[in-house]
Amino acid sequence: MKERLEELKQEALAKVEQADSVQGLKDVRVEYLGKKGPITEVLRGMGKLSKEERPVIGQLANDVREHIAQAIETKQTALEDAALEKQLEEESIDVTLPARPVKIGGPHLLTSIVEEIEDLFIGMGFEIKEGPEVETDYYNFEALNLPKGHPARDMQDSFYVTEELLMRTHTSPVQARTMGAKNGSEPVKMICPGKVYRRDTDDATHSHQFTQIEGLLVDKNVRMSDLKGVLNAFAKQMFGADREIRLRPSFFPFTEPSVEMDISCKVCGGSGCSVCKGTGWIEILGGGMVHPNVLEMAGYDPKEYSGFAFGMGPERIAMLKYGVDDIRHFYTNDIRFLEQYHKA
Ligand SMILES: [Zn+2]
Repeated sequence: MKERLEELKQEALAKVEQADSVQGLKDVRVEYLGKKGPITEVLRGMGKLSKEERPVIGQLANDVREHIAQAIETKQTALEDAALEKQLEEESIDVTLPARPVKIGGPHLLTSIVEEIEDLFIGMGFEIKEGPEVETDYYNFEALNLPKGHPARDMQDSFYVTEELLMRTHTSPVQARTMGAKNGSEPVKMICPGKVYRRDTDDATHSHQFTQIEGLLVDKNVRMSDLKGVLNAFAKQMFGADREIRLRPSFFPFTEPSVEMDISCKVCGGSGCSVCKGTGWIEILGGGMVHPNVLEMAGYDPKEYSGFAFGMGPERIAMLKYGVDDIRHFYTNDIRFLEQYHKA
């Protein structure tokens, strides 16, 4: 029986040694130490032994059991340690890997364009002015020579808050407000960028909300040539020194005479192409000499003071400068579109 126990011990220890998984160890435990295992079997047969032999064999069987159990435990710890080690190795952070790039935001293309235009005019001595987006009928229309019932109001249908309050349809009320604050005695030289609203159906070139920048210069002896000089400087700085401008007669209720300004087409250099619709020119903005009625309503004596005003859409400027084909790109916030214009 002694030999049998010794044999079992060696067998079991060899299997423990070979086991390469926790499950394998469990199998060894069940096989040798389980209730149906060979050691239990040996112990069951002790009844046949003599009184002297019994405690000796009992002790030996327990020792063997203990020995195997101990071996299993040691091996299990080793296996678990190895598994943990392996896991840690696999999950460890490789500090030599390149870092994931952090996404850095940038100004919206419209913001950049507005700031660029602002910088340009600040360089020519203009101030930046702002005004309310919810405006009174008086400042939005009447003070700009657009009395109630004027047919030109139809071109600027807006969103009304009340009969007398509306979302401004242009930034011109900022001009009226700025002039009004000067008591008719000081020169004005300002531009006013901001959001404006019209009841337009959104399409590739129209939006119910868009951006405007208007400029106004009021002083003594302001002439049409001053307007042309300022706009020419703007066009050349914005679109390139090689661009020509031309002024065409137009109509606005708040300027007289009124003009539309075109710049020469960059694509064809003036010979005509699809971008300029064969004309060689691209329309950029409108302007003119401030209407005497507008000056008068703001408190200026039109015999003493004169001025020029102009207005442009930064969306249109951005579309022309960067070849953007749909005004809706500015408002739908598709990051793929916006990211193209982030300056590094
Ligand atoms: Zn062209």
